[in-house]
Amino acid sequence: MNLYNLTIHQAHQLLKSKEVSSVELTKAVLKRIAEAEEKVRALVTVTEESALLQAEQADQRIRAGDFTPLTGVPAVIKDNMCTKGIRTTCSSRMLENFVPPYDATVVEWLKDAGMVMVGKGNMDEFAMGSSNEHSAFAITSNPWDLGRVPGGSSGGPAVGVAVGEAIYALGSDTGGSIRQPAGFCNIVGFKPTYGRVSRYGLVAFASSLDQIGPMTKDVTDSALVMNFIAGYDPRDSTSLNYPVPDYTKSLIPDLKGLRLGIPKEYFVEGMQQGVEEVMRTAIAKLEELGATVDWEVSLPHTKYALAAYYLIAPSEAMANLARYDGVKYGFSYEGESMWDAMERTRELGFGPEVKRRIMLGTYALSAGYYDAYYLKAQKVRTLIKRDFDEAFKEFDVLVAPTSPTVAFKIGEKVDDPLQMYLSDIFTLSLNLAGICGISIPCGFAEARVSASLPVGLQIMGDAFAEEAILRVAYAYEQATEWHKRRPVL
Ligand code: GLN
Repeated sequence: MNLYNLTIHQAHQLLKSKEVSSVELTKAVLKRIAEAEEKVRALVTVTEESALLQAEQADQRIRAGDFTPLTGVPAVIKDNMCTKGIRTTCSSRMLENFVPPYDATVVEWLKDAGMVMVGKGNMDEFAMGSSNEHSAFAITSNPWDLGRVPGGSSGGPAVGVAVGEAIYALGSDTGGSIRQPAGFCNIVGFKPTYGRVSRYGLVAFASSLDQIGPMTKDVTDSALVMNFIAGYDPRDSTSLNYPVPDYTKSLIPDLKGLRLGIPKEYFVEGMQQGVEEVMRTAIAKLEELGATVDWEVSLPHTKYALAAYYLIAPSEAMANLARYDGVKYGFSYEGESMWDAMERTRELGFGPEVKRRIMLGTYALSAGYYDAYYLKAQKVRTLIKRDFDEAFKEFDVLVAPTSPTVAFKIGEKVDDPLQMYLSDIFTLSLNLAGICGISIPCGFAEARVSASLPVGLQIMGDAFAEEAILRVAYAYEQATEWHKRRPVL
């Protein structure tokens, strides 16, 4: 087996028994990056030198017996998380040369655990998008079909993990950006409850929705990463001081007594036939494993979620992005006057999707429209949250597809924002409600013309019900082989 295909727990065993050193593992991953990058373009920056240094330090820690399950294991961090001394671009011209003077909390905590960071993952600019086509630098390709998108906005990290450019990655999820690319690339993507993982040092997109989470090759790895990134951080005002369990304890391969609900609003027209078939087979499997399944659950306000999200997210983005004025940091255009400089900086620094969001947000917040759009959207958000509250009174978890389709073709939706926005229809309600969700590999569906492509199964849990969704995901994974399939480049 190629070392770069290992999971975290497999790599850890080899490192612990000293069959493999972190330097060897890191070199194997770096070599894989050198081979694969030309085809997939998943990384904005490769940090070869510092990675090898970190690997040496990890080997020392292992020799001294002072290590964690993550020590010496190579990872990719999405390029919207600050890394001290290493460029953090958000795949935007605006931050092309921005080198943060500090680490995001998650990066700091992973470094403490012994992470080897091999690179920064490509993404849609400022995490706005579902296909990675909005990166200012490169379009990442889906390794299952290079003519298709990897999903977004964490497309780079997803592809990196899928092809072995990393053993695991961190992504961020504002409306689906961890789960949807995970589904498109046949990996596991985990979005924790809002407030569970610190956002300090994550470049803000929509602050009430953003959440960092693991992107891994299997469920055990997601639980392992969560053990190190979850927890209270006083530097993030929305971080919750709530005990962190050992997430690996919920990895039990049986679902007896578990109540599973299928929201009927998630099985709608527009879903690809292949996706629906795969989904029904997966749900039958969960039933076989001992769960009770109810197909008649309703989340009645689901139909308003997309509209509410595309008012709230751009409104927050518009405010968050006001800081890029060419004065404090980032790209700066020397204008004739202050206003000219600011205008030109933003005109040249931001790409078209970011500008679209700023305009949508500015409109939604403008005095005359605030009540009709922003305020209304916030009210709808409460109703969506209540739908979930009701459902979780009766069910431990809800299950649905991660996306209505498999990965689409590069260019297919890029000029049609509404179609692009629709690809997050099944994921963004969770962010509006602040609850947790995971996408796991559950089969392959025929795309109309080419080979078959991966489908993601989404398991949703209430706030702080991470353990319930991990348990269901793990039981399913143990009973199936889908997660073991790797793309051939
Ligand atoms: N695709 C959604 C958007 O463009 C979600 C992005 C995300 O989760 N960062 O807003």
